[in-house]
Amino acid sequence: MSNATDSDDGTDEPDAETAPEAAPDADHEIPVPLRDNLHAIVEELVNHEGLLVALDFDGTLATIERRPDEAAIPDRTREAVAALADHPNVAVAVVSGRELADVRERVGLPDVSYAGNHGLEIQADEYEVHPTARDAEEDIARLCDLLRDELADVDGVIVENKGVTATVHHRLVDDESVPVVENAVEALVATRDDVRLTTGKDVLELRPAVEWDKGEAVRELYDELVPDGERWLPVYVGDDTTDEAAFSLLGEPGLGVKVGDDPGTEAPYRVADPESVRAVLTWLSDYGVGFLDADRRNVPVGTA
Ligand SMILES: [Mg+2]
Repeated sequence: MSNATDSDDGTDEPDAETAPEAAPDADHEIPVPLRDNLHAIVEELVNHEGLLVALDFDGTLATIERRPDEAAIPDRTREAVAALADHPNVAVAVVSGRELADVRERVGLPDVSYAGNHGLEIQADEYEVHPTARDAEEDIARLCDLLRDELADVDGVIVENKGVTATVHHRLVDDESVPVVENAVEALVATRDDVRLTTGKDVLELRPAVEWDKGEAVRELYDELVPDGERWLPVYVGDDTTDEAAFSLLGEPGLGVKVGDDPGTEAPYRVADPESVRAVLTWLSDYGVGFLDADRRNVPVGTA
């Protein structure tokens, strides 16, 4: 028998002070593909004095949305990134194809470093732009104008001027019109020696033809953020083709984590989605950093 007063008098509800603790949060469980390799990961942590964690944004920290301006980092992920960055001997950087100011605003954490435009812009201690890229800004703007004119009749196409690079988004374009977009961009780039084309998930990107990519960005961040003479473990997490440059650079003993199931990656580890990325970050922050340099730190005093 039940009536409305049963629930109103509070007797059926656990008292706040005696309520059991919440079930273990899924955030505290390392995703299976990493858990299967936990021994190797812990060993790497033990063998390094610090941790540089470089993270892609779209598809890694934030779910990919229909329009690029809709992508947002969930609050819990932001908190996980902030908690990790707060540890001594840990540096966190967000490395995105977005314009640096854009990704920095979306992440919104002051204690994190940023690389925008695939690393052509970097802000660690101070803001730097690749010199050749800076010279290309006017050119990029002009190319954006040309493409907007040429693609004016294609519904859904977004030509985004990101300062030193440009992105043509075709996620919202009808399948049959995508080749129109691709052909227009390819034809335009073909006329230019100083601009190169890269592709990603539903995007075409125009960049100045400098040898610079997310791998170079991670190398630069490592040089700037890791104290001289120390060995830190570089970790890179990303979901797209442009992230492969960073995975390749890390090699051994870097820890590359590919997000999603796209085939063909240099990354030795995979997780499913941005939620799993958050779980990895939380695990690193709550447990992983505790293994850093553990062998050396655990030498008992006075036994030397
Ligand atoms: Mg991405």
